[in-house]
Amino acid sequence: MTIGSQENITEQINEINATLDWYWALNESSIDLKEAFEKVSLAKEKAITIEYSFGIARSQMCLANIYIKDFQKFESTSALIKAMKLLKQAIKYFEDEGISKHSSWCHNMIAWIYFYTNDHIKRLKHNLAGYSFAINDPERTYEVIHLNNIVDTYISLNDYKNANIYLDKSLKISPNNAVALIKKGKVKYLQEDFDEAKEYIENALTQFDKRKNVERFYCSANVMLGDIAYEKEAYKTAEKLLKKGLKIADDSNIIEKQIEIHLLLAKVFTAKKNFLHATECYEKYFELRKKLNAESLKNKVQEFEYEEKLIQLNDAFAEVESEKENLKRNNRNLENFAHVASHDMKEPLRMIRSFSQLLERSIDTKIDDNEKEYLGYITNSANRLNILINDILDYSKLTQMKVGSEKIDLNEVFKQILTDFNLNAEKDIDTISIASLPTILGVESAITRLFRNLISNAIKFAKKDEPIKIKVNSTKENNIVTIKIEDNGIGILTDNQSIIFEMFSRLHAKNEYDGSGIGLAACAHIVKMHHGKIWVESEIGEGSTFFVSLPVNPKKE
Ligand code: ADP
Repeated sequence: MTIGSQENITEQINEINATLDWYWALNESSIDLKEAFEKVSLAKEKAITIEYSFGIARSQMCLANIYIKDFQKFESTSALIKAMKLLKQAIKYFEDEGISKHSSWCHNMIAWIYFYTNDHIKRLKHNLAGYSFAINDPERTYEVIHLNNIVDTYISLNDYKNANIYLDKSLKISPNNAVALIKKGKVKYLQEDFDEAKEYIENALTQFDKRKNVERFYCSANVMLGDIAYEKEAYKTAEKLLKKGLKIADDSNIIEKQIEIHLLLAKVFTAKKNFLHATECYEKYFELRKKLNAESLKNKVQEFEYEEKLIQLNDAFAEVESEKENLKRNNRNLENFAHVASHDMKEPLRMIRSFSQLLERSIDTKIDDNEKEYLGYITNSANRLNILINDILDYSKLTQMKVGSEKIDLNEVFKQILTDFNLNAEKDIDTISIASLPTILGVESAITRLFRNLISNAIKFAKKDEPIKIKVNSTKENNIVTIKIEDNGIGILTDNQSIIFEMFSRLHAKNEYDGSGIGLAACAHIVKMHHGKIWVESEIGEGSTFFVSLPVNPKKE
């Protein structure tokens, strides 16, 4: 590795880490998930390109976090599955490398996933695993976060004894930790130890005053205190606290809390014999529950629709694939048919040709000119049919050919073709000029056939009243060789310039120019087989130029 590229890699690593640090430092509420997803995905791609394993695992962890947030917003189960997959991959790397902090974060996130799936036993397992990695961290507040998470899981499992044990550990490290205090209050409240609960919650509230973004905790604290007041029959205080909680829930749009508070308020009003208000609260409670249900139903429907769309897409894809398979099978059948049919036709045709020749010779003196002409038609047609069958046979052999990597000197190929046509580049200089050509890799017999067809057409489609002139030369660019065969023949109309490469396509009557219409189709096949291209530029009456571009090594294409 050169120093330059080492510097470049260090720069890229810094860039990847900067993006991931940016994501990790983002303020939860103002996060734009789409933007974050794009940036982190890009960082991951970069990390993969330079094989920076820590960067890959870290970006997987961030992406998982984005998916979890996506689930919190849209309740899409597929987001949770994606998050889980990424976390399992990332955690393996962090644990193998002994990177405790990141391992504990990953466990923490997996625990969140199990919280959403209501599997609190698995959630606990990952909480505890996360905690075991966090113990080593010199930052003890970090340990407290994990302890508090364990407490939440024990509360979900209604195991208040263990919840208290972990809360005490947490409060021992950080006695004024507001989250631990309110949780302690909550456990006491759930154990109906209201006096102690009140003490912890009020203590937590004084701590929360110093913090931002704690609406949810404020709200919960007021609700619990309100309920405790209700239990102690202090209805006025209960109403006051619950209304305070409701304001926070309304302002922050925390619908579950709004529901809980309306139910509690209804109880308080009933106890106060204020039935009108109690009824209003019950009505509100039902209305909000309906809204919550509708919202979750809406999400479920959206998810269902999304899955339906996926199924439709998959079906369409499968249909295209099976169509492709059918087409391939049909093509194979057609190729086999062409091969077998043309092969079997050869024998009866040979009989027709030899017996008509015998007949021609033996009855030559006994028949009149008309009859001779008829016999001539038979022999001619049989000869034409022979050419056609041979062409079809050759073509079907071509379709079964696999591209090879023989070294082909195109100068030699053209030398051979000129000999076949009884031409000599030095002698017939006015007819044919061939520039020096390159060497390529491919199937020599097929490449020879390709250029023989093109030269043969250049000779065949010459103007009747003008000497033939053919020029062959080549260019090479980025390992692609383009061979140009230019003639001064009859030319081809623009509209016909692509049709001529199709099978059996001919532009002239048989008595004008003979042929089977297979030659250029075979050329197109050979070029395709070598991953190249063939096209023509021509003007009617001015001549045609055929271009063949081929990769120097078709196997690399
Ligand atoms: P064939 O030569 O057997 O008719 P090809 O597939 O080789 O079949 O060519 C298809 C048609 O393309 C020809 O019938 C002819 O009309 C046209 N063509 C091919 N090469 C030339 C050329 N060099 N100049 C003019 N027309 C050509």
